[in-house]
Amino acid sequence: MTAAPPRLLLRSTRVVLPEGPPRPAAVAVSGAVISAVLPYGSAAPEGCRVLDLGDDALLPGLVDTHVHVNDPGRAHWEGFASATRAAAAGGVTTLVDMPLNSLPPTTTVAGLRRKREVAASRAHIDVGFWGGAVPGNAADLRPLHEAGVLGFKCFLSPSGVDEFPPLDAAGLDAALAALAAFGGLLLVHAEDPRHLAPAPPRPAPRYRDFLASRPHAAEREAVRLLLEAAARHPGARVHVLHVSSADVLPLLAGVKTAGAPVTAETCPHFLTLTAEEVPDGATEFKCCPPIREGANQDALWQALADGTLDCVVSDHSPSTADLKSPDFAGAWGGISSLQLGLPAVWTAAEARGTGLAEVVRRMSAAPAACAGLTAKGALAPGKDADFTVFAPEARFTVDPARLHHRNAVTAYAGRTLRGVVRATWLRGQRVYADGAFTPPLGKLLRREA
Ligand SMILES: [Zn+2]
Repeated sequence: MTAAPPRLLLRSTRVVLPEGPPRPAAVAVSGAVISAVLPYGSAAPEGCRVLDLGDDALLPGLVDTHVHVNDPGRAHWEGFASATRAAAAGGVTTLVDMPLNSLPPTTTVAGLRRKREVAASRAHIDVGFWGGAVPGNAADLRPLHEAGVLGFKCFLSPSGVDEFPPLDAAGLDAALAALAAFGGLLLVHAEDPRHLAPAPPRPAPRYRDFLASRPHAAEREAVRLLLEAAARHPGARVHVLHVSSADVLPLLAGVKTAGAPVTAETCPHFLTLTAEEVPDGATEFKCCPPIREGANQDALWQALADGTLDCVVSDHSPSTADLKSPDFAGAWGGISSLQLGLPAVWTAAEARGTGLAEVVRRMSAAPAACAGLTAKGALAPGKDADFTVFAPEARFTVDPARLHHRNAVTAYAGRTLRGVVRATWLRGQRVYADGAFTPPLGKLLRREA
């Protein structure tokens, strides 16, 4: 069978392909998929529309595997319509929703069905779902896997919401055993509660008191416990969420070198913001694990460069503004950055001499691979025609009023960032351009067989 002739050719002097630095190329689209990557000056076949992007970079659409949409149940924190619009405006064409903060959480097949019903008509980009592993639901994991979740999230310390409790050591073993039976993936919020200090007495306006309550040791010891447990269940795959502390990097590097099926992510805020610059009372910077010191941040960048860390994803976890009171003990822990992750990371990367292609691979190809989404994450024949058109040298100052998040609270307010998302394409259709959206065209993704 021969592919249908291309109907669209996108040309740019800076195309981010799976290998090498950005370079001139033309990407041909046939239906919803990429049919070919051609030399820049290739003639378009008859009837084929040509779009010349000039020096704007053409990227594979970003894949954000760590988003708390909170819908249904806490849609006033964020919802599928607002989250997926913000994502599209930020160059993200696929997001994977976390199983908690919605009501019900995605810990049963019925909960997954509710999520899918709510998301179906509202998704401006493609959406996949993580399931949840909580005490007592080991028997729900296989049915959720068969219903299409991409993997399972668990906590080792309190999650912040009562309906999604953490696993203890025995529960972690039980979840890994259940997942090992079908080669499942466990995503772990790794902070060891035995090393978390009680929250500072309220009100606690000082960032350094909050930071001291969530020390490096909490992350390090949780990752140690997790990797020991994972070694007992080699059939299960393990992914460490939102690595904040450089203390876990030697542990990750050790098991990765030994070939264990372990991956890890960090987040834009850990790569771009430092504890030293968080003003007292500024709880828009509060998240768990916390934003740490500048020297620690250098080590995270090094770990991305050497592959100890695989992915950069947002951990977009908003709440209403009233839950972000200037009290680090009482405020909701979560940073909103779905729309800002790419420019935030690119701004910092560029200053460190890290190239755009490397940033994009960590925010697109790597998370797509972790989530098993083989049609996503690269400009290559056969992949979905998901694109981000990005002006790397353009600058803008973050104005919360211009964010599409349901709640405009953001740690990036007032910062001048480098890189503007001009347009976003989903499976061959331009779904976002210069502040305007098409009606929702996103699909709900299921785990691939
Ligand atoms: Zn999260």
